Amino acid sequence: SSSTTPIKATLFPGDGIGPEIAESVKQVFTAADVAIDWDEHYVSTEVDPRTNSFLTWESLQSVLDSKVGLKGPMATPIGKGHRSLNLTLRKELNLYANVRPCYSLPGYKTRYDDVDLITIRENTEGEYSGLEHQVVKGVVESIKIITRKASMRVAEYAFLYAKTHGRKKVSAIHKANIMRKTDGLFLQCCDEVAEKYPEIEYEKVVIDNCYIISDLCAGLVGGLGLTPSCNIGEDGIALAEAVHGSAPDIAGKNLANPTALLLSGVMMLRHLKLNKQAEQIHSAIINTIAEGKYRTADLGGTSTTTEFTKAICDHL
Ligand code: NAD
Repeated sequence: SSSTTPIKATLFPGDGIGPEIAESVKQVFTAADVAIDWDEHYVSTEVDPRTNSFLTWESLQSVLDSKVGLKGPMATPIGKGHRSLNLTLRKELNLYANVRPCYSLPGYKTRYDDVDLITIRENTEGEYSGLEHQVVKGVVESIKIITRKASMRVAEYAFLYAKTHGRKKVSAIHKANIMRKTDGLFLQCCDEVAEKYPEIEYEKVVIDNCYIISDLCAGLVGGLGLTPSCNIGEDGIALAEAVHGSAPDIAGKNLANPTALLLSGVMMLRHLKLNKQAEQIHSAIINTIAEGKYRTADLGGTSTTTEFTKAICDHL
């Protein structure tokens, strides 16, 4: 309630549609009387030498200090000589697990009615590490690193998550049939952790047989406008963000669906144990979409971002 001391949380409105959907989150949180004191940080227009990216040192310090935040999408210019913003955040804040729940929304019909799955993606190594260099002119190399430490860490996180959230099964997704050493080590770590959780069903799936990964999951329930995520770091850091990008094709037009960022905000509130308000906001979003009167264009409606946001606030 409004009488509680506000909790400081970092807010990155981000690029493209980011500021529009971040505004929506601020309005909904205010309507729900959530005691969050946003410390807002924008992406810089110049490379900050202290981070070697467009992220400012101050913004990183803000997350390290508040330990919790909400992040809008950040556009990554392709092939420029500085580090990706998202990669910088992951590395600097040690955000090792990206938790992406994906579930069917009642009242919004898609091909599948009963999707309820969570992708937990290891964020710090593998092909995504950004360890690339030129060997000689015309020949480049990308290094895929897998360590026992990071594999155990994410496997432990996944099984503990399954246990504490009442999930039945954990699937380890890999390509160990070809990448025997790297993915092989990852899988071996998953096996070891699985043994400590006999009550949770465990399976291994070669990635080719499992196209249920993150972005594609969104397609199962209605698209990228709907799917939230939360990055979990060491020392209790949680940085929630939508799965989607900055959507330059619709930026600045008041057309974006703020649901994904709002649901990311709900994940942030649950992390802060503000469960009552998390549930209130979650229900208001679900009910607004189910009612069908106000929906954004990606869900086949005609509402603007602001109209849809107002409808959620009215539900609250
Ligand atoms: P995108 O997710 O931005 O857009 C893909 C499609 O989905 C577009 O048609 C877009 O209009 C639509 N869409 C996405 N979010 C929507 C929303 N909330 N409401 C309605 N429609 C929505 O993916 P992209 O075009 O591949 O990437 C654009 C930029 O975003 C790139 O610079 C990319 O690097 C960056 N990106 C950032 C993140 C992040 O910050 N976590 C994630 C993915 C992509």
